[in-house]
Amino acid sequence: MFGFWQRLGSVFLIAIVAFLIGIFNEALTGWITFSIGMLWLVLHHTWHLTAFEQWLLISDHTPSSIPAGRGIWDNIFAHLARFVRMQNQSQQLINFELKQLQSVTAAMPDGIVILDENNHIEWCDPVAEKHLGVNLTLDVDQQITNMVRQQSFVDYLATGKFNKPLVLRQMRHHRLTLLIQIVPYGNQQKLLISRDITSYERIEIMRRDFIANVSHELRTPLTVINGYLEMLSGEPDIDNSMHQYALHAMTEQTIRMQRLVEDLLTLSRLESTRDKLNERPVKIIDLLHEIYNEAQSLSSGKHKIELDIKNEGQILASREELRSAFSNLISNAIRYTPENGEITICWEIKEGKGMFSVCDTGVGIEQEHISRLTERFYRVDSSRSRETGGTGLGLAIVKHILNRHQARLKIKSEVGKGSEFCIQFPEKRLILNSYN
Ligand code: ADP
Repeated sequence: MFGFWQRLGSVFLIAIVAFLIGIFNEALTGWITFSIGMLWLVLHHTWHLTAFEQWLLISDHTPSSIPAGRGIWDNIFAHLARFVRMQNQSQQLINFELKQLQSVTAAMPDGIVILDENNHIEWCDPVAEKHLGVNLTLDVDQQITNMVRQQSFVDYLATGKFNKPLVLRQMRHHRLTLLIQIVPYGNQQKLLISRDITSYERIEIMRRDFIANVSHELRTPLTVINGYLEMLSGEPDIDNSMHQYALHAMTEQTIRMQRLVEDLLTLSRLESTRDKLNERPVKIIDLLHEIYNEAQSLSSGKHKIELDIKNEGQILASREELRSAFSNLISNAIRYTPENGEITICWEIKEGKGMFSVCDTGVGIEQEHISRLTERFYRVDSSRSRETGGTGLGLAIVKHILNRHQARLKIKSEVGKGSEFCIQFPEKRLILNSYN
């Protein structure tokens, strides 16, 4: 409040001087003095205001460019100079930190794009420009899907489910394979992170090709060896029990190796992106009767096998692959269930999903193994698996087949009581008008 009265000091001074002149001279002279004083005051403030306005209009607001002031304006301009100095300092700090951030992001191998709530590009770093064929200066505020047009990316963005990354192959400008991860943040904004995985993919393809080639090359020699072993086993001259035992063991091991090679080749084929899914409507009821008959002959009457078909239906799938997945689960149930055990093969449509399950009253599996069963060569009990003719690849094959059909495998088991392996097919794979 004191400041207010201080600011009015010059008005009071003029008024007092004019009043005194009015007393000692004429009242008119006093009024004229007062008017001249006030006019001078108005001119003084107007001149400073104009100088201030002109300063506001210039582009370079440095403290030195602030005009010099007199009286109260000297104070105001001094405060303004201090304020501008502080502003410039914090601006410099922000610029420095922004440059630091830009050099950090430029040094990162990953591309970063900031998207707004409608998936328009707000900012991206130079790596993302290279990865996605974007030009920040030209494409800012553009929809990201105008730049990255692959259908898989458009669908990924539309679903809004970003818990798993997306692999994008063959980008527009380069033969790149990118791993795209989207992280939502703030006010429905998104951070898109792109990573170049072209070289990893190349190594992965080399690994796959190597396994496929080795397995393929091993196939013929094994067939020849097995042929001769079978021929020798049938020779009447071989009566020495030691020789017979050796021949029997060699034949058994060769058959095991042949099974391994066949399973490795199946896995390689399933992993190959070139091998497209040969899908068509498969009548579940027919397929189940086929594999049920197979299961009966595999068990040779040692188990009680039941087939429980709750609904008829068709699935859009590769018949061979479906058959292989179902047979693998049934053959496991037979191999890991002791004699007189019960096995139930069931098919039903529940909550819009197609469910195929195989339940057994076999040895069961401890909980800690369940999540790892679909890994290649993972066995709970390797000696049992070998004894029963297992390769350790059966469930890995099942998992690959299910992935190709967007289906899921659920496993429940209790040691000593039995296991349930259930395959869930998504609604889109069911042919709706054909089941009742
Ligand atoms: P394998 O050829 O060894 O059977 P799989 O990949 O088919 O290989 O199965 C992996 C492991 O899972 C098996 O070694 C076995 O320990 C376990 N397993 C699979 N199915 C069953 C089942 N029905 N009951 C008990 N254990 C099972």
